[in-house]
This record gives sequence, C-alpha cells and structure tokens, in this order.
Amino acid sequence: MLKTKIKPAAVKLLDLIYPPRCISCGSSITEHGNICGKCWDDINFISDPQCRICGFPFEMETEATLCAGCIQEEPHFSKARAVFLYDDASSKLITSFKYNDRIENRAPYARWMARAGAEMLHDADYIIPVPIHFGKLLLRKYNQAGLLALGVAKIAGRKVLVNALIRKKYTKKQAGLNRKIRFKNISGAFKVNPKYASILKDKKILLIDDVITTGATADECAKILRKAKVAKVEVLTLAKTLY
Ligand SMILES: [Zn+2]
Ligand SMILES: [Zn+2]
Repeated sequence: MLKTKIKPAAVKLLDLIYPPRCISCGSSITEHGNICGKCWDDINFISDPQCRICGFPFEMETEATLCAGCIQEEPHFSKARAVFLYDDASSKLITSFKYNDRIENRAPYARWMARAGAEMLHDADYIIPVPIHFGKLLLRKYNQAGLLALGVAKIAGRKVLVNALIRKKYTKKQAGLNRKIRFKNISGAFKVNPKYASILKDKKILLIDDVITTGATADECAKILRKAKVAKVEVLTLAKTLY
C-alpha cells in the first residue's frame, strides 16, 4: 500500500517544482510536453483534400488533384506534407521552438510529424534536414530542422544524414519577402556534401524542415539532390504558410 503511494507522490512532487504546462499558451495541463485542449482545437491541422504535390489544402472536395501553383510549375520534390497551418493559433509553437531555447518541445512535434508523414517515412531511405548556415548555427546553437529530423527518425526507425546537404550561402531571412525574391534569394544556397554523393545515388530522400512557405528552400534542396542522382525527394514540415 505504502509502496504504491510513493511513486505517484514523487511524480507529484516533481510536478509541483516543474508543473506541466501547455507548450503553446502555458496553461496548466496534466502531462509534460503537450498542448492543452483549447490550443489543440484552435490549431488548423492539415488534412485531405490537398494538392497531391505541395499539400496546399483545398477548401472543399474537388476533382482537382493539383493546385494552381503546381500546375504552372511542378516543384523538384514529388510531395510535401505539413502537420498544421502556420497561423495565429500555431505561431507561438513555431517561434518558441525556433528562436528560444524551447527544444524540449520537439517531442510532440516529432510525434505529429511522424504521423502526418507516415507514408513518406515508410518509403524513405534516408532523412535529411534542411541545413542552416554555419554562422547561423553559432548564433542559434542548434538547427531546428535537424532536431525535428532526429526526433522523427527515432520514431520511424530511419537514418538521418545530418551533413549530406551543406548551406554554402548565408541567405537573408526569407520572412516577408515575396515568392519571386525568395526563389532568387535561395538559388545556389546549397550543395551536396561530396562525401555523401555515392550514398545518395538512386535513394529516396525525405527532407525535413520546420516551416514551408513558398517551397523555395525545399525546391532548391530537391533540385540539388536530384542533380546528385537522388531518385526521389519528398518533404515533411511541421507547419505550412498559406501565401
Ligand atoms: Zn494551450
Ligand atoms: Zn500544389
């Protein structure tokens, strides 16, 4: 009787010192590393129907399988999927993860991503995170895409090639720039690490990033990888911005 009481008591004591909080709004919840019911309801999780390639969500059931953007010009990746829309409700989840030291948040994110990208993960030979420039890495101390990639890979039992892509150009912050400038800005920013050239040949790659906006970054990475004879590139992100 006493024994069974000790364990929950210890957990309770820990929760008193470090109570579980919603990783979005900070309200009190029952378990660590989760979001509260209200935030969960507010977040716009992306589901079908959506563009077969880029995952752009369609407002209603339609015969169309591609969005206008993909009809106009198909990206170099064959499929991109995201967990939720990047909007007011989800922005705190992204910014706290990206710019603060809230890396403990990655556990639920990786879980959600593994679910949203289950099919792509099943298919992938390797996972590659979209790299950040070494200079930015020094400032931020970690690459959020790399952390997500490691978390997702652990759940799905896949291997991550952390250094297979190199960011050789220090690009300006893409936020606030229009589509055309984003594509121009990111052009030539990446290269395949020569050490990985033979490993990547004919493989199926799943690229991981935190947010996809115009798809310019993912498209540039996919273009470089396809040039390096990668068979297929798919993309999995936590959030997607509707531009
Ligand atoms: Zn909340
Ligand atoms: Zn599309």
